[in-house]
Order: sequence, then structure tokens, then C-alpha cells
Amino acid sequence: MNAKWNVNWRNPRIHSEERVKVWSACTEHVDYLRDYLSSRGFPVEVTVFPATVERLGAAG
Ligand SMILES: [Zn+2]
Repeated sequence: MNAKWNVNWRNPRIHSEERVKVWSACTEHVDYLRDYLSSRGFPVEVTVFPATVERLGAAG
């Protein structure tokens, strides 16, 4: 796996805005992962690896 992106996300039912989970992804899979999380109603933000975000607000 050649990480080029970070998919930052959280489950708002169990994670506070500061509890950001990070999945590293290659260009081939980043869209799939973002759509998967987004379809579950989770806030998602993609950043260029190795950057991450400090917090994630509400989805949408
Ligand atoms: Zn991949």
C-alpha cells in the first residue's frame, strides 16, 4: 500500500469532535473509503498524507 492520502473520520455517536480516526489510503482506494464512511453519516475529510486534521465537525 502506497499511502498518498489520509482519510480523517469519526463516528459522531461515539467519538467527540477531537477524536479523529485516520485511515491511510492510496489514490486507487481513497474515494471508496471516503464514500463508505460518508454513506454511514460519518464526518469525513481527506488530506494529503501525512497531514491530518485536529477535529471534525458535523457531516455534510
Ligand atoms: Zn489502496
